[in-house]
Amino acid sequence: MRIIIISNRLPIKAIMKNNRYHFVRSEGGLATGLRSLQSDDEIHWIGWPGLYPEDNNIKKSITEELLEKKFHPVFLSAEHIQDYYEGYSNSTLWPLCHYFYSLINYDKRFWEAYKEVNKIFSDVAAKIIKPDDTVWVQDYQLMLLPALIRKDFPDIAIGYFHHIPFPSYELFRVLPERAEILKGLMGADLIGFHTHDYMRHFLSAAYRVLGLEFHLDEISYESRKVHIDAFPMGINYTKHYNAPKNNSVRKIAQSFRSQFGSHSLVLSVDRLDYTKGIINRLKGFEDFIRNHLEYREKTSLVMVVVPSRDNVESYAELKARIDETIGNINGNYSTLNWQPIYYFYRSFTFEKLIALYHIADIALVSPLRDGMNLVAKEYVAAKRDQPGVLILSEMAGAAIELKEAIIINPNNVEEIENALVEAMEMSTGEKMERLQKMQQVIASQTISKWTADFIKELKLIKEKTKAISSRQIDKKIIKDIKKQYDTTGKRLIILDYDGTLVPLVKDPKMSVPDKNLLKILDKLSHDPKNKVVINSGRNPDILDGWLGHLNVLLAAEHGVFYKEKGKWHKNVSEKPIINKEIMNILKYITGKTPGSHIETKKMSLVWHYRNSDVWLAELRERQLVDALMMPCSRQNLQIMKGNKVVEIKAQGINKGIEVMRLLKKETYDFIIAMGDDVTDEDMFHSLPDYALTIKVGPYSDSAKYNLSSPEESVAFLENLVV
Ligand code: UDP
Repeated sequence: MRIIIISNRLPIKAIMKNNRYHFVRSEGGLATGLRSLQSDDEIHWIGWPGLYPEDNNIKKSITEELLEKKFHPVFLSAEHIQDYYEGYSNSTLWPLCHYFYSLINYDKRFWEAYKEVNKIFSDVAAKIIKPDDTVWVQDYQLMLLPALIRKDFPDIAIGYFHHIPFPSYELFRVLPERAEILKGLMGADLIGFHTHDYMRHFLSAAYRVLGLEFHLDEISYESRKVHIDAFPMGINYTKHYNAPKNNSVRKIAQSFRSQFGSHSLVLSVDRLDYTKGIINRLKGFEDFIRNHLEYREKTSLVMVVVPSRDNVESYAELKARIDETIGNINGNYSTLNWQPIYYFYRSFTFEKLIALYHIADIALVSPLRDGMNLVAKEYVAAKRDQPGVLILSEMAGAAIELKEAIIINPNNVEEIENALVEAMEMSTGEKMERLQKMQQVIASQTISKWTADFIKELKLIKEKTKAISSRQIDKKIIKDIKKQYDTTGKRLIILDYDGTLVPLVKDPKMSVPDKNLLKILDKLSHDPKNKVVINSGRNPDILDGWLGHLNVLLAAEHGVFYKEKGKWHKNVSEKPIINKEIMNILKYITGKTPGSHIETKKMSLVWHYRNSDVWLAELRERQLVDALMMPCSRQNLQIMKGNKVVEIKAQGINKGIEVMRLLKKETYDFIIAMGDDVTDEDMFHSLPDYALTIKVGPYSDSAKYNLSSPEESVAFLENLVV
């Protein structure tokens, strides 16, 4: 099977040799994870190669050279990179997703470039992708890409992973292109985030911006299901755990140790970025050495800052501030034998980094926001048989997993200072115990597992989608059913009303049947071979008003009443619910839930919340069910949750009662039952195996077939009578 990874950059570095470009792999986490996937998976990678050749011959030769590695370059111009990458991606989306509202640089030109480049990526992808491939799009530079690929390949498996935080809706809503961005992502089958919090924020944004409701981790979108899930990214644990044993690393560690002297070492490693909380960290460290004389001249901070984006103004300013702050601290506190801060503005090789992790007594990881933060995990992994303490910001995704770190709020400088003291005073036993617990977590959530988990879930979703689509009624199935219908002599057609024959609308009083529906029901019911039943949750009066003039049987209030030969009968012997206690609970919850209302039926009470805010209604529904539990069980009543309704009625009443009554009286050689709600599943379950059960709306396991909407069900019924 082929897996097509699409990311902004290809995992390569270009080197000019003999006037020709040569490429060497630059191994990132994702590339490492992919290597451990099943060997029969063929991995292709689409991305920008990191240079701007203008000559078409050079582009051609680069394309050919990269093809050997199964890499496919997307050539972009310097302007593209300026506006799409530096611009919209890094100056608009990056600060937005990291909650740096004031640093958002918005320019319409950036957005135009972002759209253009996403389209260029999809054009390249369209030439490479084959219909059976699995496509995995990476990160915030390509948020429009899933939908663009979906247009070209409607049935392909598409995944997207968001490597940075997804902000709360209150922040995300400020983006002028919020809807386009979300629609772009909705092209995917699976959208992954590092943590459950980011996932929650995304679901909330999809609901508030696009009005898309979700069920658990699933959003129904344009006849597809989009799954949202959390996959915390890991590291190559064994590599980091074993590395300190290497001779070369040991030598580097020894040499570092002798250079830094015998002081305790606090280590920090990050890219130059305002999200990393470097200034607060410096302030916290300064307070620590100022206020705790016992550690002064005995502790140094080793700060590695990897150059990044320093051509962007906000980054250059940050760099200047860091330089100045470190200069001041070292100027104020250094002695002949001691330097408070060792500052390296450059990147370190893997071996040097491991050596630093290994000798550092404390890792101080204090980002103001960070999607995950791998440095925290690497430090813990590299602490092989060596005590160490991780101080970790609660704003890093990693804090969800690394509970044994000293967790700090990075905005609180005093907490940084106190955490340093706590770390210094911690016993070796406790340090080792905490490290081991964290190592267990990191050892099980590795980068290989992360990659495998995502791909596995994406493939599973695709299989499920295929299974669902095989139940979706298409032209062929319609033809088969029609053939059966035409050749049978005694037919039962049993139909739910709301959500099945008419759409669920905001105002339930507006669900009046239209002329077309009445005409079709009339035709169906006038065929002497047919018995047509409307089996609804509505009360008898409403059904009579809308459908009473037709030759159809009516069943009301989920099986309580049925109408035959012009008269209403009761299927059950229970008395109506007249209960003050229950009514008071319903009234209280209704008062606290704008848009909800109570319906008093003859034999039941119903709380409707179709017009309420989903999040509020979800909370209120739980509170309602909780409050009703005791009074209902005392009075032998059942609480039934339906589609945006909670119904309270006597035990044992459901739509299946009417089905059983009908089947007891007569036998049929053809049965169709159609419904959209959980209440209709009782009807499906009461039918014999040969019945054709049809779920309208979201797919359900309890029906044989599926139709997407009431419009489709009406068309389906119409087809039976032509
Ligand atoms: N890193 C590196 N050389 C350095 C400093 C850091 O290779 O000199 C690596 C580090 O090992 C880690 C990555 O850069 O894997 C940083 O990842 P993290 O998630 O901590 O932060 P990001 O830069 O992705 O925001």
